[in-house]
Amino acid sequence: MSSKRDYYEVLGVSRSASDADIKSAYRKLALKYHPDKNPDDPSAEEKFKEAAEAYEVLSNSDKKAQYDRFGHDGLKGGFGGGMNMDDIFSQFGDIFGSAFGGGSFGGARSNSRVVKGSNLRVKMKLTLEEISSGVKKKIKVNKLVQAEGVSFKSCNSCNGSGRISRVTQTFLGAMQTQSTCNTCQGAGQMIDKKPSDTDAYGLRKQEEVIEIEIPAGVEDEMQLSVRGKGNAGPFNGVNGDLIVVIEEIEHPELKRENEHVHYEAVVSFSDAVLGASLEIPTLNGKAKIKIEPGTQSGKILRLKGKGLPSIQGYGMGDLLVHVHVWTPNNLSKEEKSWFEKNQDNPNFLPKEKDKAGGFFSRIRDYFS
Ligand SMILES: [Zn+2]
Repeated sequence: MSSKRDYYEVLGVSRSASDADIKSAYRKLALKYHPDKNPDDPSAEEKFKEAAEAYEVLSNSDKKAQYDRFGHDGLKGGFGGGMNMDDIFSQFGDIFGSAFGGGSFGGARSNSRVVKGSNLRVKMKLTLEEISSGVKKKIKVNKLVQAEGVSFKSCNSCNGSGRISRVTQTFLGAMQTQSTCNTCQGAGQMIDKKPSDTDAYGLRKQEEVIEIEIPAGVEDEMQLSVRGKGNAGPFNGVNGDLIVVIEEIEHPELKRENEHVHYEAVVSFSDAVLGASLEIPTLNGKAKIKIEPGTQSGKILRLKGKGLPSIQGYGMGDLLVHVHVWTPNNLSKEEKSWFEKNQDNPNFLPKEKDKAGGFFSRIRDYFS
């Protein structure tokens, strides 16, 4: 006993159906439920697989005979785990002819193929904050869709096969060659009737709002491809893709370097000497950092995990704060004389140890 649907029922053919009927029924279903044509319907893929499995059995005379006598139980062992998508697509080579491949697959008649619509490209500007968290965006696109009231008929040039056969005489004898029909681009169909405001393929521009989920950590000029959201394909073909090109809006204060961000903090001479608490911008608000007493200009403070998520999934980057000490340049007489008095003060003289050690430990910090 099996809960599986009857293979004849799946393909919608009678038990006495001919091989040609079975093939034709499968082609129609494969076309209807092809995942490229149904990107938003997960049940389509199940139906697509179910049809492929039914065809796999009913198109094979041995398996068909087993199935006709014993039903699903007759196929145990030889067939049962279902088919994966690769099996199904490799089967397409037989059923739809060699035209299959390169974004096209079999159409309503032998050898003809479904034409894929063109891709749509849109630019999307994102702030560094949006990039750091990932974001859902709605965008309006103007895309080609199949208009209502378009009907098709078989292509006159190739009689619907999508291929033109030519017999040429060679020294080896007559040779038959096949090429894609130029009139229908291999679709095997041509427009019968269409509204007057559509293009040659019965397509028309239409505005559509599409929601796109941008993953965190994307980079400038990166391209995201949203399958099946591009222009409709001619002759009931499959949709092209929507290509989203990321444009990063420069942050007014933070500078990005892959998954890290840099901030240039300028502190007063007094704060560098006495120490201070400093508020700095981050990608999700603000953070307080501590400037230790006696901080040297050029010191780099690392705020771990305050950068951006790595798009390859290697965790979070850091926020690196570069400390610059601002030298006062407009002193009063008294202030000036105070510095003059301290000019030879050993406490004011650079220490070789701090200079070298400071510099090299910074480099070490930075690359660690
Ligand atoms: Zn044609």
